[in-house]
Amino acid sequence: MSTPGMVVVRSPYSGEIVGEIPSCGPEQIDAVGASAVEGARWMAARPAHKRARLLEGAADAMERDIEELATILTNEVGKPLHEARREAERTALVFRWCAGETLRRTGEVLTMDALPMGEGRLGYTSAEPCGVVVAIAPFNYPAHLAAHKVGPALAAGNAVILKPSERTPLSALFIRDRLWQAGFPANTCQCVVGSGAVLGAPLCSDPRVRKISFTGSVEVGGAIAAVAGLKRLTCELGSNCALLVFDDADLDAAATSAVQSGFVNAGQVCTSTQRVLVDRSLRDDFVERLAGKIDELRVGDPAHAATTLGPVITEREADRVVSWIAEAAHAGATVLRGGDRMGQLVQPGLVLEPPREAKLWREELFGPAIAVRTFDGDDDALRNANDTRFGLSVGVYTSNLDRALRFARGLRSGTVHINSGPLWRTAFMPYGGYGDSGFGKEGVKYAMQEMSEQKLVVIHPTAASES
Ligand code: NAD
Repeated sequence: MSTPGMVVVRSPYSGEIVGEIPSCGPEQIDAVGASAVEGARWMAARPAHKRARLLEGAADAMERDIEELATILTNEVGKPLHEARREAERTALVFRWCAGETLRRTGEVLTMDALPMGEGRLGYTSAEPCGVVVAIAPFNYPAHLAAHKVGPALAAGNAVILKPSERTPLSALFIRDRLWQAGFPANTCQCVVGSGAVLGAPLCSDPRVRKISFTGSVEVGGAIAAVAGLKRLTCELGSNCALLVFDDADLDAAATSAVQSGFVNAGQVCTSTQRVLVDRSLRDDFVERLAGKIDELRVGDPAHAATTLGPVITEREADRVVSWIAEAAHAGATVLRGGDRMGQLVQPGLVLEPPREAKLWREELFGPAIAVRTFDGDDDALRNANDTRFGLSVGVYTSNLDRALRFARGLRSGTVHINSGPLWRTAFMPYGGYGDSGFGKEGVKYAMQEMSEQKLVVIHPTAASES
């Protein structure tokens, strides 16, 4: 039962209430926007060294309370505690990286005499804050992904309004509170908690907002684009990432990577391995290794130290994952592992040769199962890997440099990892997708660029200096 005016947060594992927060109504968005405009003025007047110090202070405050954030993440997302700790640490690290990037930001001096009309002139660019940024985050890495929006927005001298998923607002409030503790005024970083369907349109259509940074599903990305109007938009959307395993690969490393990247956070990662493409000659050996490693996963209470696979976010999602596996089986696939659930705990799945048309192969699963198909030769592998409307990240296991380079060039994907699974990200790398996986880049430096105005100054010679 939900309480009117409140967002009730429940543990995906036990169903217990782990938080209750007053929700923001659409009528409050106007005041939030006005306050953010004031906050943006305050931020724009802060020099880089002061912004950096504030961000360092926030990172320190988060690091001090890492265990608290980890517990929140286990409670609201249901991720195993050791994964939650890792997300908490990475969240603090992103803010620390933002502090450093604030000090590294530079402009460009143009070669003005590259054309005759520019001779005698000095031209340079400088980055200025863009004003108010709206950051909309999904449920699966609610702290780390919020950090990748809020941190760069503040580093670039903007005010930010964070809209977390209504399922996971507690970690967003943790972040906001640490930013406030570090000395950011309340109006520079606000958090609006409530239904995306209700708050999305007033928030995203507000003309005082200059930039929206969204991470979430393709459907919601489309809804935001439809109401945003004339403002900047970054969309980090879904995917069904592939892992390619060639006959010259380190098979055990590839199997370990497939299972790690396929089942972390119960497969609820935009870059998790979903489609494994393996050379036909290796299939049986490779699948046996995968099955062995999947059998080592421990499904259960995410608060227990031994658990490696927790629940998925809702019962509806658990049901969907199981039904997609059943659909693939019905269409001729062999289900080697999984296909069952107990409440929101979905058994890890391993499905062999689903037809290309099966949802499990074609759509984004966002759950704990991997599907394996074989290929015959490099052309077939490339064609199959690219046979998707998504393009976020791909992993390629090969020890042949020519092949690695060919696939690095030929794969249509925002990131290509050679000898790693697709799930690998650091604060400094450009990150974003092709096709339906979205547009625009995250990664602190790149996000800051997208959250800044680039001003060009040209100093022309005076008549006196020309004479
Ligand atoms: P979602 O799209 O349902 O929700 C994401 C956010 O959008 C939430 O805060 C939600 O409240 C809000 N929202 C919902 N309707 C809205 C509307 N009409 N206007 C504005 N905001 C609205 O996604 P989710 O279920 O929270 O997360 C899963 C999805 O996120 C998957 O598709 C996954 O691939 C994607 N994702 C992508 C990346 C990436 O970096 N590319 C990372 C993580 C997750």
